[in-house]
Amino acid sequence: MDTSMKTKFSRQREAIRKQLSGRHDHPTAETLYEELKEEFPRLSVATVYRNLNQLVESGEIAKINLNGPARFDYNPEPHSHFVCKGCGCVVDMSDNNDEALIAARKNFDGDIESCSSQFYGMCSQCIKETAQ
Ligand SMILES: [Zn+2]
Ligand SMILES: [Zn+2]
Repeated sequence: MDTSMKTKFSRQREAIRKQLSGRHDHPTAETLYEELKEEFPRLSVATVYRNLNQLVESGEIAKINLNGPARFDYNPEPHSHFVCKGCGCVVDMSDNNDEALIAARKNFDGDIESCSSQFYGMCSQCIKETAQ
């Protein structure tokens, strides 16, 4: 890979990282691609996906595997999520995993490092819509 290629690739990765940073909607690679393709006309979903996976591997972001396409989280710290059964949105939950961790460690011989949970239900927006 020559230097200009390298620069181009890291520029894309930087843009992908920036696009993900600070947001709480846990977008899919497809969503990020849709948002970035105007700025990077030669970008493909596969490239976005590959860059996201590289950022996951280096611990800069996190990947959430749910039913359906993987979602990406700018916050790599273990935390819990709410998943809406109606619209599929993924929302960060304020964590209270310490007690769960302490309880789990008591009954486990190995070394438990972290804990994150997934909560399922209907988000307020979906409840509003079904009530109409
Ligand atoms: Zn919903
Ligand atoms: Zn999250």
